Amino acid sequence: MLIETFIRKQLRLKAHTVIKVEETGECMVVHIDRLGKRLLRCGVCRGRCREVHDIRTEREWRDLSMRKLPLKLRYRPRRVECPRCGVRVEDFPWAEPWARVTTALANAVAVLARELSLQGTAREYGLNWKSVATIVKRAVRYGLQHRARAPVHAIGIDEVSRRKGQVYLTVVYDLERRVLLWVGGDRTEEAVRPFFTRELGKRRCRTLRVVCMDMWAPYAKLVRDHAVNAQILFDRFHIVKHLNEAVDATRRELWRRLVSKEKVEVKGTRWLLLKNPWNLTNDQKERLSTLVRWNSPLVRAWYLKESFQLFWGYKQPWRAKQHLLKWINSAMRSRLEPFKKFTRMLRSHFDGILAWTKTRLSNGAVEGMNNKIKSISHRSFGFRSADLFIALIYHCCARLPLPAER
Ligand SMILES: [Zn+2]
Repeated sequence: MLIETFIRKQLRLKAHTVIKVEETGECMVVHIDRLGKRLLRCGVCRGRCREVHDIRTEREWRDLSMRKLPLKLRYRPRRVECPRCGVRVEDFPWAEPWARVTTALANAVAVLARELSLQGTAREYGLNWKSVATIVKRAVRYGLQHRARAPVHAIGIDEVSRRKGQVYLTVVYDLERRVLLWVGGDRTEEAVRPFFTRELGKRRCRTLRVVCMDMWAPYAKLVRDHAVNAQILFDRFHIVKHLNEAVDATRRELWRRLVSKEKVEVKGTRWLLLKNPWNLTNDQKERLSTLVRWNSPLVRAWYLKESFQLFWGYKQPWRAKQHLLKWINSAMRSRLEPFKKFTRMLRSHFDGILAWTKTRLSNGAVEGMNNKIKSISHRSFGFRSADLFIALIYHCCARLPLPAER
């Protein structure tokens, strides 16, 4: 088989043909031309067009390499007279309109960019990272337009910090399918509202049953405004984080009041107190028991933390509620200011915390994706624009469809 025929078949050309393949030192150039008078399609609506308006100057597309030799397609695009759209550039079966690489190459690059950094992907395909960024942005735009929009029942809303906590983004996950649904440029009410009004829309808001989130007032308000059937659930992992912060604050408060001799004893106990007791080594248990003997505020904090955690195990809502009320009572009597603060937070979010017993959902289901976002943030620290960061988050977490290779 001639190389020309081989490439024509690979590209599945019907109205075009390969007239010549040239090999230069660093690439193979595939010259393409129109095949006879076969009908061309409109680049906008893809309808067949009878008339060719004119022939444009030659354009070039990068394709997948052949045995490490980059393939370049060259062709002079026609402008067709589409009965519906007017004079338009024809549709190229090998590439999306305006793309400078073929769909096959773009998809291969896009798939690798889900695993590697932009720079790493670029190196693998001999492109520069900006071309990879363009490919990813295009893939995301296509994917968002063409993804299936199934009914959603349980979502998790979370915030992601960018540039070391100076900028926040909001991410929304489908907790049942474990897939990213939406990314917003901030965590304010206005920034997140489009998720409910535009992305979900009224109809899909009605099917929402559970919304899992941190205790962040704008999110809760939006759910009450737009998803009246949904139960607000405060995320288990965020609550535990606040609880651990209370233990930490107690420890730091104590530290300030200690004299230096006593400080030696307390030093390094932070992790002992945050660790689960069954994970402690004998030596650590020994240190913990010394601490327990002479240090009552820390001990009270530690017991409070441990007893709070029993809440997650209850199966019956009324028992869980009873436990929580008792715990709140003892925390209020503990004379530990950080715990009193934590308790006030529990009280003002009571229903959303109790909802755990019935729903058993948490954003822990999508923790893997949160970690993935952190690693994207880490490796794209140099990027100025949030746009690219957002595109990468969609690209890696939303399981978007890629354009079909025709
Ligand atoms: Zn058209």
